Amino acid sequence: PPQTPAAAAGPGLKHAPVRLTHPAKVLDTSSGMTKQVLADYYWTIAERMLPYIAGRPLSLLRCPDGSARPCFFQKHVIGSLPRGVNTVEISHKTGAPEAYMTVASAEGLAGLAQLGVVEVHPWNSQNDDLERPNRMIFDLDPDETLAWPILASAAIDVRMRLKKIGLESFLKTSGGKGLHIVVPILPKFEWPAVKDFTRRFALDMEKANPKLYLTKMTKAARKGKIYIDYLRNEREATAVATYSPRARPGVPVSMPLHWKELEFGAMPIFRVTEFIQWQSRLVDDPWKQLDKINQQIPSRLIVN
Ligand code: ATP
Ligand code: MN
Ligand code: MN
Repeated sequence: PPQTPAAAAGPGLKHAPVRLTHPAKVLDTSSGMTKQVLADYYWTIAERMLPYIAGRPLSLLRCPDGSARPCFFQKHVIGSLPRGVNTVEISHKTGAPEAYMTVASAEGLAGLAQLGVVEVHPWNSQNDDLERPNRMIFDLDPDETLAWPILASAAIDVRMRLKKIGLESFLKTSGGKGLHIVVPILPKFEWPAVKDFTRRFALDMEKANPKLYLTKMTKAARKGKIYIDYLRNEREATAVATYSPRARPGVPVSMPLHWKELEFGAMPIFRVTEFIQWQSRLVDDPWKQLDKINQQIPSRLIVN
């Protein structure tokens, strides 16, 4: 549909008091989402979204000319940053430390709109403990022809396997084709140990159901299957943030789900410009227990 004044108004969103150049610039033609609406969305969702991104290095998908034009990932600081967007120095094995971007406030989050940031992708470790992740993510990447109920039952399979080893997990849509299962953990083990655990977890699933699961990235072999992408769990890897918009037509967001919502007939989709239709989801937060859970991968399952 063509852009309409109604779409440009950001129904249900609070006005973000941040400085924007060209606030009326349309960043998504199919929904008419403007830069101001994007800032308003970040400002309105900040209280919910910040717990999942604050104090972490961020990779930012910038679409300064809209999501129909080329977008690019930026993780290093270049130029001047909006108020509330800060830097964190990260050392690597070789070379000088590099400055990454990080935010800790609603002002910083909304300020990302000034940079044309349509997607926010945090690390799974925090700035003050970069080498020890405090969550794991299993990213289920289905072949495009795979039926929804099969993807939904795969998510439940992941959840039950985690439960068996004493781990609670949380579900979200990616905002794209797949589902993400997030496992909060205490920051105890370092990246190689956690990555190796997730690799063996994915391999176990593939072994149990090789007709359905795949642990190799190759797209060609994915036909009718689900790629269990455990590679979100390595140093410097990111996954899209909970509540982040996606740079796709209509600007869907990565949305926390109740497990029972998997029983619906199709992948639920929630769009930034339709905030007014789903804002009631914020009342009964499916993830409200996440930060209250203190759990750890059982030591017996850690190999290195
Ligand atoms: P879908 O459900 O459609 O799979 P997704 O967000 O899970 O959506 P994937 O392709 O499975 O998409 O995940 C790839 C992830 O890798 C991205 O979410 C992003 O965090 C990260 N990523 C990919 N390319 C880059 C890049 N160039 N720079 C930084 N991070 C990247
Ligand atoms: Mn994915
Ligand atoms: Mn993936």
